[in-house]
Amino acid sequence: MEIEVLKDKLVDVKANIEKKESFLEALASFKELLLHEYEKSPLLIQELMFTIILRVGIILQSRYTSDVCLEAGLEIFRNAWNVVSEKEKPDLYIWIKKLDGILNYNPKTFDSASSNYLFDGHLTVDPEPPCPGWMVVRDVFDHTCNYRVRRFHQFVDVVQADSQAIDYGRPPASRVVVTTLPVISLTEEHLSRLGCGSECAVCREELIIEDMMQELPCRHLFHPACLQPWLELHNSCPMCRYELPTDDIRYECQKEKDKETREECKRRDNALISEYMYV
Ligand SMILES: [Zn+2]
Ligand SMILES: [Zn+2]
Repeated sequence: MEIEVLKDKLVDVKANIEKKESFLEALASFKELLLHEYEKSPLLIQELMFTIILRVGIILQSRYTSDVCLEAGLEIFRNAWNVVSEKEKPDLYIWIKKLDGILNYNPKTFDSASSNYLFDGHLTVDPEPPCPGWMVVRDVFDHTCNYRVRRFHQFVDVVQADSQAIDYGRPPASRVVVTTLPVISLTEEHLSRLGCGSECAVCREELIIEDMMQELPCRHLFHPACLQPWLELHNSCPMCRYELPTDDIRYECQKEKDKETREECKRRDNALISEYMYV
């Protein structure tokens, strides 16, 4: 295939994987291109293909959760494994393990003996016992993907520049609280509440219907993969500083004392004001 034709096809694939209605079809044509064109293509085209592969992972992580979509995505990663160079394999491995883990998880039929192999003839993993439900949900949103980690660190740098003083000495959010935060699928109602062009404040991805998001009590929404690493370091909402409980008893006691002191001050101020008014 001529380079220009191939490039046009890849540009189409790149656009079509972003839309739910054309996602599966785009993956099918991408699979063909991957199998027949990747190895003989120049580096620039290979890089474009690899960008698409990683993008498929990101899209599956934040948008599509049906088995059909996950299987189609996994198929892309498995096929890519056979054609990419060694240095690209670690990135693929992360996604293959992640997607394979989600698809193979079935509490009733889980068979650890048959899950030793990610796929025939390639990597093997140790058999693992079935995970509790919340761990599986957490794993779906695992933040090991380099792209998200990079975005997350950029975000932390920016926010930390103006929040260091506020966060100093604050422990991270309580693990139990973090793992029980609700995960919701975005609806039109959410999007109209958030306004058009809304994005996840951490990764700057524009939010679309059916994105899987985690909601803090302040009602700010983030991709679970973006929020989790933040809450491993902080106990507050990245946007409005709403504080979540922590596992640090001393910190919680101090917080309670500070609150009482503030309320006491307020009571005294109010008493003074009413005294003044009656004089
Ligand atoms: Zn995000
Ligand atoms: Zn908030």
